[in-house]
Amino acid sequence: MFPDLGRTAPLVPPLYPASVYTFPDLDALDAVYAGTEPGFVYARDGHPNGKHLADELTALEFTFGLGGGAWGIATGSGMGATVAAVLPLVEVRSRVVAASRLYGRTAQFFRDHLALFGVTTTFADASDPDAVRAAVDAGPCKVIYAETLSNPLCRAVDIAALADIAKAAGATLVIDNTFATPVLCRPLELGAGVVVESVTKLIGGHSDVTLGFVAGTDPAAFPAVKTTVSVWGLAAPPFDCWLAARGLGTLDLRARASAANAAAVADWLADRPGVKRVVYPGRPDHPDRTVAARLFGGSPPGHMLCFELADRDAVNRFLRAAPGIPFSPSLGDVTTTCSHPDTTSHRYDAAADKLREGITPGLIRLSVGCEPLARITAELAKGLG
Ligand SMILES: *Cc1c(COP(=O)(O)O)cnc(C)c1O
Repeated sequence: MFPDLGRTAPLVPPLYPASVYTFPDLDALDAVYAGTEPGFVYARDGHPNGKHLADELTALEFTFGLGGGAWGIATGSGMGATVAAVLPLVEVRSRVVAASRLYGRTAQFFRDHLALFGVTTTFADASDPDAVRAAVDAGPCKVIYAETLSNPLCRAVDIAALADIAKAAGATLVIDNTFATPVLCRPLELGAGVVVESVTKLIGGHSDVTLGFVAGTDPAAFPAVKTTVSVWGLAAPPFDCWLAARGLGTLDLRARASAANAAAVADWLADRPGVKRVVYPGRPDHPDRTVAARLFGGSPPGHMLCFELADRDAVNRFLRAAPGIPFSPSLGDVTTTCSHPDTTSHRYDAAADKLREGITPGLIRLSVGCEPLARITAELAKGLG
C-alpha cells in the first residue's frame, strides 16, 4: 500500500506514471465512463498529469477566464497536436487551405499523408488574406491552417482576418501558435476555432520534453479530438507532462523576458558591421510589423529572429567563435541557441524556393533566451568578431 499522507498534501503535483487505474466495483467504473465522477481508466485515454497540464494551458489561452465550452488536451508531440486537431475536421474528398510557409513536418502531413485519405490541400500565402480568400473561394473548404509566425522569417498572419474568411466559408481556422505561446498571443480570442502548440519549444522551455497541446472553443469538437488521440496513439507521457507543468510556473516570465531580449538583440545586431540584414517582426523594416503589433498587443513579437551574414563560411566562423550560443536546431530554451535554416529546417527544399523566400546560406536563426541581455550580446560579439 502507498503510505497514507494523513491530512498533509504535497505542495507540488504528484507524478502518476500508472498506465491503468483500479475500481472498487462496476458502479464506480460506470460513473467514470459516464463522466459523473472524476477518475481515469487507461493512460492512453487520459491521466492526471496530462489533464493537469491541459487544464493549466487551456486557461492560458484565454485572458479573462475560460471561454464557455473551452477544452484542451495534451499530446505526445506538437505534430501529434496537429494530427489530433485536423483529422476530426476532414473527410474523404474534402479540402484544406494551408499556409505555404509551414513547419516542414506539418506541410508533409497535409501534402503526403492527408492525401492518402483523399483530402487535398491548397497552399496559399497566409500573410495575404486576399490570397487565402481566393484559395478558399475556389471550392468547398473544411479547414484553414496557418502559423501565428512562420519559421524562420517570422511572417505573421492576420488571425482575425483569417477567422472571418473561415467563418464565411463554414471552415474551421486552426492556428499553430508555437512561436508566440499563449502568453504573447491567444488565437482563440482572435477567432480561431482550434489552437495547436508545440510544448516542446518555449512552453516546455528547457529542451527536455517532447509534447504538444490542442485547444478549442466548440465543446462539440472535443470528443472526436480525444478519440483521435487515443486511436492514433498520440497520448502524452505522464513524466513529460509533469515536467512541462513545472515549467509553466515561469512561462510568463520566460516568454516576456525572451521577447524583450529578442527585440533588443535585433536592434543591436542591425548596427553591427558584417550583418547584412536583421529579420524581426518588431522592426520597422519587417513586412508584417503592423499585423504583428496587433497580434502581440504592441509588446515585442516573440523570441525568434534571423540575421544574415555574407555566406556559409561566415556562418561557420560565427558558430566556431560563439560556442556560448549553441548551434541546436530547435527553439524555446532558456538559453539563447541558433540554427541554420538552409541546412536544417529547410534542408530539402529547392534552392530556388529558399532564395525566393530569403533563406540564404548566410542566414542564422536565433532563438533568444532569457539570460541577461549583456551575456547574449557579448557572445554574439565574439561570434561576429
Ligand atoms: C517544433 C514545431 C512543431 C512540431 O512540434 P514537435 O513537438 O516537434 O512535434 C510544429 N510547429 C512549429 C511551428 C514548430 O516549431
